[in-house]
Amino acid sequence: MTPSTLILRFGELWLKGGNRRDFIAALARRLRAGLRPIAPQASLVVRHDRMEIELGGAEVAAPLALARSTPGLARVVVAHRVERDLEAITSAGVALVAAQLHGAARPSFRVASRRSDKSYSHTSPELNRHLAEAVLGVYDLPVDLRRAELTLGCEIATHGCFVWVEDHAAVGGLPVGTAGKVMLLLSGGIDSPVAGHLAQRRGCELEAIYFHSPPFVPEETRQKVSDLGSILSVPQGKLILHSVHFTAIQKAIRDHCDSQHTVLLYRRFMVRIADKIATQRRCQALVTGENLGQVASQTIENINLVDRLGERLILRPLLTYDKSQVIELARALGTYAISIRPFDDCCTLFVPKNPTTRGRLRVIEAQERRLDGDALVAEAVAQTERIELQPR
Ligand code: ATP
Ligand code: MG
Repeated sequence: MTPSTLILRFGELWLKGGNRRDFIAALARRLRAGLRPIAPQASLVVRHDRMEIELGGAEVAAPLALARSTPGLARVVVAHRVERDLEAITSAGVALVAAQLHGAARPSFRVASRRSDKSYSHTSPELNRHLAEAVLGVYDLPVDLRRAELTLGCEIATHGCFVWVEDHAAVGGLPVGTAGKVMLLLSGGIDSPVAGHLAQRRGCELEAIYFHSPPFVPEETRQKVSDLGSILSVPQGKLILHSVHFTAIQKAIRDHCDSQHTVLLYRRFMVRIADKIATQRRCQALVTGENLGQVASQTIENINLVDRLGERLILRPLLTYDKSQVIELARALGTYAISIRPFDDCCTLFVPKNPTTRGRLRVIEAQERRLDGDALVAEAVAQTERIELQPR
């Protein structure tokens, strides 16, 4: 049997009383745009309490993957539309269960029916009983009403009847864009793409900024960043990446400042430049992959010194995560394999073995007075390249 319909269940949307309409509109726009290139014959239908993708003959895999990775959706049911009569529902249900049984396995089983069309002649307990008897008459399965390994779902709605055995978790959260737009500082590392993904899941649309230092940092690093950005573009259709020439600033710091402060000085310039570009691009916050205590540059003291440099909030979604949690998220997102490609980032350039772990504001500001910071920032902003990334 080939599925006809994906039933998309909202995440926290129903909580958001006043914004509900905007949220649903944002989600529908995103899903329609995502479907167009992968399944042009499929269509999205917005219903009162959910959405449905009518597959229209399209293969299920790509639309299913799209729906599962779209923020704002909590679950995706792979459903089969059937005739309203009880015998049609029953035979489809038995066939779906049969297709799930392999070899001698006897998964625990239950039926979960719902009748939203109250004019239908059987109540949901009656449907449950009827379907369970039909399945158990053919297959000897243990029944478990609470935690069944195999659930046969059935719904009688006014617009159609559906049966299913596949009900997948989706990414949850809020539709991208409903929380505004933010600027992600995206390096080629493991952390920043995950931080961007978490911000997207809370409804933020991303632009990204990358600091590049040719010829010291190889082009392969920028390629990594583009590849990571392309993954982050999936839930929003495209991602604008701002590539900043950082070489002149790094050289100025190397030539005029004491080396133990190098990393902090880099970071402060990055934040200032990102903040300026965020203003131009109407982004409401910056996002970084900073993580407390993971490396010398990320002590509370040092994070304090890269905070409040610009006009806007800096979000740090990974601040309290363990590295193992971040890696798990990176793997699920598909960024991990890209992030571990062995190419250097500008942060390691001209950096001594023992950088300051407890920077002091007065010391750092004295270092910065050796440079013409405003001119360096203005020059870097002016030379920034804008690249548009798309899902691949
Ligand atoms: P990541 O894995 O994201 O690189 P990290 O653990 O290596 O993080 P750092 O190198 O200290 O940590 O960087 C902290 C944060 O600063 C990064 O998560 C990123 O948001 C930002 N950042 C660092 N280097 C760059 C860069 N070259 N371009 C853009 N942002 C950067
Ligand atoms: Mg890094």
